[in-house]
Parts: sequence; C-alpha cells; structure tokens
Amino acid sequence: MQLLKERIRKDGKIMAGNVLKVDSFLNHQMDTELFQEIGKEFRRRFADVQVNKILTIEASGIGIACVVAQSFHVPVVFAKKTKTKNIAGDVYTSKVESYTHGRVYDIIVSKEFLGKGDKVLLVDDFLANGKALEGLAALVEESGAELAGAGIVIEKGFQVGGNLIRSRGIRLESLAIVESMDEKTGTIVFRGDEA
Ligand code: 5GP
Repeated sequence: MQLLKERIRKDGKIMAGNVLKVDSFLNHQMDTELFQEIGKEFRRRFADVQVNKILTIEASGIGIACVVAQSFHVPVVFAKKTKTKNIAGDVYTSKVESYTHGRVYDIIVSKEFLGKGDKVLLVDDFLANGKALEGLAALVEESGAELAGAGIVIEKGFQVGGNLIRSRGIRLESLAIVESMDEKTGTIVFRGDEA
C-alpha cells in the first residue's frame, strides 16, 4: 500500500532493538483518515470472504480495528490483557509474549462475544515474531469460530512472524512489509522495493 509506505518513510523512526516507531500516525497519535484507507485496502484484499467479526488485541490494535471494521460493517472484539486469570465469567484464554515489553501475559475474550458460527478477521498494527497473532488465533480456535485470516498494517519481514503465521496456513495480508531498516542511516527498504 503505497500511501502507507510513504508515510512510514516520512514519519517512522527506527529505534534500537528492531523497533519501528510510528506513534505520530499509527499507535499513539492516530491518523484516522489513513486508517480509513487501511480499512478499504483490507476490505479489498479480503473481498472474497464473509467476515462477521474483527478481533484485535489491546491496546494499539483497537483504534485501527475500529476504523477497519467500518469498512466491513461488522463489530470489533478486542482481547484484553490481564494478570489475573480468575476473572469473573466465562472466558477463552491464551498466552502472549509481548514484543515491546518482553513479558508473558494472559489474554482473554468473553465467550459471549466469540463462538461457533463466527468468521473472524484478526487485525493488528505490527507483526514481528508472531506471538500476538498466534495468541489471537488460539482464542479463535478455542471458541470454535472460523479464522478467515489476518490483516497486519506493518510486517517486519526480517523477523520470524510472517513465515510462522503463513506456514500455519493462516491467510495473512500485510499492507507494508519492511525488509530491512537501518538505525544509523534511517533507511527503510520495503518488500517489492528491491528491484
Ligand atoms: P509479535 O507478537 O508479532 O512479536 O509482535 C507484535 C506486537 O508487538 C504488536 O501488537 C505491536 O504492538 C508490537 N510490536 C512489535 N514490533 C513493533 C515495532 O517495531 N514497533 C511498534 N510500535 N510495535 C511493535
């Protein structure tokens, strides 16, 4: 998605630890008009599937998923991160190791909002090692819902997540795939740019 790649080049900041900071437009301050274009692009790419629910993970996926959901005309459910397992009510649970914080936490979704008969699209801002998507996919599987695929805004193609998710047979659409980024020069190379 050209518009997105241009924005990443213009406003993205390359940090230590292979972290790309895009918090001026994606996950702190949020450019909702860009989100609308992202929503339309996911809708176009998943035009052949009848999605009835979007599932994301708190916190930074929520804003994007809400706008994307408007393109699909379906509700959004977000998995909550929790330290207390025994929360009241019936929930699906899974474990996720956080890329940016480096710790493992439980994620939960109420059984009320996910189940058999649902066709779910996962949406998140970044794909790095694939832990967040794996955790979300596990929740979908536990619930008996069908997984339609995953829509990622920025995939870091030099990390293992993309291959991991694709090798599991999950349909993955990433709008910008970063092949390499150089902290010193600020250079970002996207997949498809190399030729
Ligand atoms: P994964 O679970 O695939 O290893 O990492 C994905 C999650 O970590 C995303 O939900 C995202 O919030 C966070 N993340 C991973 N890499 C980056 C990055 O380079 N920049 C930012 N801002 N978040 C990242």
